[in-house]
Amino acid sequence: MNYQYLHPRDELALTLARIYRYKMTTTSGGNLSILDENGDMWITPARIDKGTLKPTDIVCVKKDGTIVGLHKPSSEYPFHRAIYNARPDIRAVVHAHPVSLVAFSVSKKIPDTKLIPQTYRWNGTVAFAPYGIPGSEDLGNKIAEKFAAGYDSVVLESHGVCCGGRNLQDAFQRFETLELCCKTEIKARALGEPTFLTEEQLQLESRTGDVRLPTFEYDPEMMTIQEKDLRNQICQFVERGYRQGLLSGSTGTFSVRLDATAFLITPRPLDRFDVQPHEIVMIRDGRCEQGKTPSHAVLSHQAIYDAHPEIRAIINAYPPNSLAFSVCHETIDTRTLPECYIFLREVQLLPFETTFNNYPELVKRVSPRHPAAVLSNNGVMVTGDSLLSAFDKLEVLECSAEAILDSIPIGGHVPMDQQVIEDIIQAFRLEK
Ligand SMILES: [Zn+2]
Repeated sequence: MNYQYLHPRDELALTLARIYRYKMTTTSGGNLSILDENGDMWITPARIDKGTLKPTDIVCVKKDGTIVGLHKPSSEYPFHRAIYNARPDIRAVVHAHPVSLVAFSVSKKIPDTKLIPQTYRWNGTVAFAPYGIPGSEDLGNKIAEKFAAGYDSVVLESHGVCCGGRNLQDAFQRFETLELCCKTEIKARALGEPTFLTEEQLQLESRTGDVRLPTFEYDPEMMTIQEKDLRNQICQFVERGYRQGLLSGSTGTFSVRLDATAFLITPRPLDRFDVQPHEIVMIRDGRCEQGKTPSHAVLSHQAIYDAHPEIRAIINAYPPNSLAFSVCHETIDTRTLPECYIFLREVQLLPFETTFNNYPELVKRVSPRHPAAVLSNNGVMVTGDSLLSAFDKLEVLECSAEAILDSIPIGGHVPMDQQVIEDIIQAFRLEK
């Protein structure tokens, strides 16, 4: 979706519905605003059910303070104004009380965003603003002071979080990845000790992500039925992954093989909430469709397709339970349920650098025999002979990760023993 064409009223209503739908606010908590080019602020209203809010419910607070709309503006609008006054580059603010961020807020801790590259890229270093009475000028000053110091994401003591951006989607992605970061750290600490990315690793990721492939001129008139089908399949599976909580709006890559020399891959940037077939990028003979930028993961997917003709689809994802294992540098034990072992076999644990600069090792470790891998501080990778089979593996992997984490307070998971595994291998004729 091209948000640039939306009126602030529609964009605010849509984004709030998304925040509510994904349980990142309650009916009464949270408020969003956009500052337009006239200096007028469009903001969500006070005391209106977040589950049923419509664009016509949005209030406009004019630059001179006049209020236009059917309702009163959010009672927290003073801090929105204070942020805009402190930072002219910020044109949208998202404030809400999502549970994992609230956990940090009430335990007075600042999340370290260097868990995965995306959470750091979006949030950088996060600030912590001391408590203030909701709706007060004092709270506005305390928050604005942090934004004035250059922070874009501020955890509010005993309250929630505020994220700013150059537009609403920017602020929203920042907010959503920060909640993912907090959720991941909380889950990871139940498992062990999370590891954070080093400066060198962050630099490696941003350097390799900027690789530009040679391009070719793409003619949509030449598109085959098979290509149309696969472009649509990618969009459907990405949106399904988002709805199922396996991806966030700004994380995750999907690709599918078209033929021996070409594959289709998701672009960057991309909002996984809404993906259109024309946005998907074709890579043919190592060249990229002109005018588009493929996902950061394009070269690692290319290496796997080149090495393994049987692999027809690859997914990189960042579901929160699997991510806890990823940041603790632990593999996910598949000796939980027979289904899990049959689909995933032994999940590989790869160092962070492997998908960026060690393709020979990557294609040795990820193969039809070992279709899934935990990437240290970089989520998980699954492969399959179709998008459906790769997606299914992703769901099974995340289920297993969640079950193992859930088993910790009740005594921990007891893996199926070696004889049971041998019997499964024999009964299902699995490759040794
Ligand atoms: Zn609040």
